[in-house]
Amino acid sequence: SLAERLQETFKKLRGKGRLTESDVNEALREVRLALLEADVNFKVVKDFIARIKERAVGQELLASLNPAQHVIKIVHEELTTLMGGSNSRINLAPKPPTVVMMVGLNGAGKTTTSAKLANLMRKQGRRPLMVAADVYRPAAIKQLEVLGGQLNLPVFSMGDQLEPVAIGLAAVESAAGAGRDMVIIDTAGRQEVNEELMAELENMKETIKPHEILLVVDAMTGQAAVSVAETFNSRLGLDGVVLTKLDGDTRGGAALSVRSVTGKPIKFVGVGEKLDALEPFHPERMAERILGMGDMLTLIEKAQENFNADQMAKMQKKLRSMEFTLEDFLDQLNQVKKLGPIEQVLSMIPGLGGNKKLKDLKVDEKELVFAEAIIKSMTPAERSDPERVLNGSRKRRIAKGSGTTVQEINRLLKQFEQTKKMMKQFIDMEKSLKKGGKML
Ligand code: GDP
Ligand code: MG
Repeated sequence: SLAERLQETFKKLRGKGRLTESDVNEALREVRLALLEADVNFKVVKDFIARIKERAVGQELLASLNPAQHVIKIVHEELTTLMGGSNSRINLAPKPPTVVMMVGLNGAGKTTTSAKLANLMRKQGRRPLMVAADVYRPAAIKQLEVLGGQLNLPVFSMGDQLEPVAIGLAAVESAAGAGRDMVIIDTAGRQEVNEELMAELENMKETIKPHEILLVVDAMTGQAAVSVAETFNSRLGLDGVVLTKLDGDTRGGAALSVRSVTGKPIKFVGVGEKLDALEPFHPERMAERILGMGDMLTLIEKAQENFNADQMAKMQKKLRSMEFTLEDFLDQLNQVKKLGPIEQVLSMIPGLGGNKKLKDLKVDEKELVFAEAIIKSMTPAERSDPERVLNGSRKRRIAKGSGTTVQEINRLLKQFEQTKKMMKQFIDMEKSLKKGGKML
């Protein structure tokens, strides 16, 4: 894999005290090969290597005491830049319903992703309606209906005898009356890109005027995914890309090149067949994964630097006595933030990496700012027992005071509950370890 490849390369660099230009060249040759093998677009690789070389060779590097780390840092930064900033927002309609058109080739994951997206949007407080507009494959209509049933979310379908555009229009018209504020249209694909498909989708775009067009591509197809994205974008003007099947044995090339080739962001990634396996795309974390930066050693070093043992013990005591409040939570978020993305931190702890529950737990910079604003807008009573005290009108007041939304407050509360639960698990685990038990 690309990760192993780069790690090998950097291992060699680690052994050196100081890097010469030829060291850098050798390392970059490896990086270049690894990227090409990972099926990254040739031109993307060329520009990428040139940028790194420009930064790695020269003053910056000479001044650095630890050249290997320096190069890794530069590669990491450039990888992140290559994949663009994080953007997983759907363009919302000024007047609901927001219409999202899902497009892509057969088998890319449109139908599954439509359902996953509906599920995710509901979690964010929206009321989605899924629309079965793939009339070429009757099984696709049934498939969406089954998924809707599993999620307990409505699916709009009119069989396979009408034009997809007519079905889409009817769905959008019926949405408002049915109290739905988002319409997710699962369109038909083809085996490969062809004029018929493009004309059909263009026509749908013209008529229905979606607020968001998301292209679903299969990460396993590597460069093919990128060229599909290029074509769809030039004909339809995409708003974003969903990269599916990242849980599989993909070579990572698509993730690296989609943004720089099309200029359009990867907004979400599919990481499994289950309906909750859709995540916002985080370029920085992807870069970290590609580089395999998160080894235990770094974690331990960082943890020792940042975690204050006394404070940790105090928290645990509070938890045991059930006094763990939102204020403590905020302190904790700030501590964890210093270590890096929490999922990554937790995934590095042996025995916890595979823990499914941890996957829902996300902390990023922006959320931290929100969390702080929200918690600061609360009264002491609300902070110490949010579950009991917070009702709708209090939440609205806090939202106003903190410049956030009730949904954001609810999300914070959910994280708070999850953290509480998780910390209890840690404590229980610790206890059983002390008794000589095994972790998991
Ligand atoms: P469509 O033809 O574009 O509508 O594709 P489908 O939604 O029917 O998906 C095709 C296959 O890919 C199905 O078996 C899905 O379960 C599978 N699939 C979709 N997304 C993912 C993903 O993120 N990970 C994995 N492992 N499988 C996926
Ligand atoms: Mg389908």
